Amino acid sequence: MAEPTQAPTTQDSPETAPAAPERYGYCHWHSGHAHGIRLIEAIEQGSGPGISYHACPDCIKLHRLVPLVDR
Ligand SMILES: [Zn+2]
Repeated sequence: MAEPTQAPTTQDSPETAPAAPERYGYCHWHSGHAHGIRLIEAIEQGSGPGISYHACPDCIKLHRLVPLVDR
């Protein structure tokens, strides 16, 4: 049995690209979509997935919001 000459596919995989720090999503403060949103508040409810609020960098500065992960 000849061994395959090809190296394992551990190189140059497009999925190994570093995750972009910016996240695109809905900003609840200016009611629109924006890049680089951060999770500000997550309210868990007894039933349902709960409510989570995201804000874009501009609204974080404007309203002096504190991202949940920075608390
Ligand atoms: Zn915003």
